[in-house]
Amino acid sequence: MNNDFDRPVIESSCALCGGSHAHLIERKDRSGHPLDVVICDHCGVVHNDPIPDAAELSRFYSMEYRLQYKNTHRPKLRHAARYFASVSQHLLEHWHLYRAPGAVLDVGSGSGEFLYLMRELGKSVHGIEPNEDYSVFCRQDLGLPITTGEIDTFQPAARFDHIRLSHVVEHLRDPAGCLREVSKWLNPGGHLYIEVPDFHTYGRNKRPGGMFHFGHIYNFDADSFDRLLGAAGLAVLHRSGPTSAFVTPSLRSGPVSPPAAPREEILGKIDFYRQHRHGLLRKNSLLRRLRHKIHKLVHEHRIILGRSDYAGIGSQSASLLKHRLTS
Ligand SMILES: [Zn+2]
Repeated sequence: MNNDFDRPVIESSCALCGGSHAHLIERKDRSGHPLDVVICDHCGVVHNDPIPDAAELSRFYSMEYRLQYKNTHRPKLRHAARYFASVSQHLLEHWHLYRAPGAVLDVGSGSGEFLYLMRELGKSVHGIEPNEDYSVFCRQDLGLPITTGEIDTFQPAARFDHIRLSHVVEHLRDPAGCLREVSKWLNPGGHLYIEVPDFHTYGRNKRPGGMFHFGHIYNFDADSFDRLLGAAGLAVLHRSGPTSAFVTPSLRSGPVSPPAAPREEILGKIDFYRQHRHGLLRKNSLLRRLRHKIHKLVHEHRIILGRSDYAGIGSQSASLLKHRLTS
């Protein structure tokens, strides 16, 4: 049992609101390595403490990537099946927001499924991806125009009408500052799509103590996600989930410093994490989770059956998507 919940408020600086105090909720990462995680006492965002500096972060990512991609320089076909299906579903549900012609930028384009499908749907596309192997894969195997690099060094040659940042912002030291910069790359009337993992969904799905790691600096929920958007001067056009939304630069006011979170919200989050840590939130039995996993694997293997490459699965997904969008 972790007694840190009972600790008093500690000194900690919050990069989102400038707050100077926080509640310590965890002292270990998901692998059991030391990592302090706090809830800001002012804005209620859950973040690693201290926020790592730029050099620490880049050291971490260079090591993480070396470990993660030691034996696999290319994304697996199983991933293609999963990601093409989930991006297709997202595009089907939100096509009214993507329909207008325009240039698309995917920040953190990963293995390229979003840009591949958007290109097949007639868009002009570009990606930024920090991982060398994945950007090479996208350029060579999928023929996508990808710039290898970080957001802060990217120099766009022209503006975009739609910019996507999916599972990117939680890795950044200054998420609001970055969103303010990225917003400047939009054409008038353009929009951003931002998606981050939800603290509460994570708490229900991850094993006890398995939520936090060094690379996820921030852990947003619906409330702190809204405060982030406000701090970045963004207004919501369409909410697609607790921590995902289509947004546009706000016309009425500039960036605002996040307001104080109600005490009940902060205490509620501390209590939620306590329940997660005690394993009280997982509703599905081990058997049900296992069944779900097997079902997913069988489904993914059915999609990749007889296909030997990523682009083949992409092209099949694109035809299916075009058919569903026009019927
Ligand atoms: Zn804060």
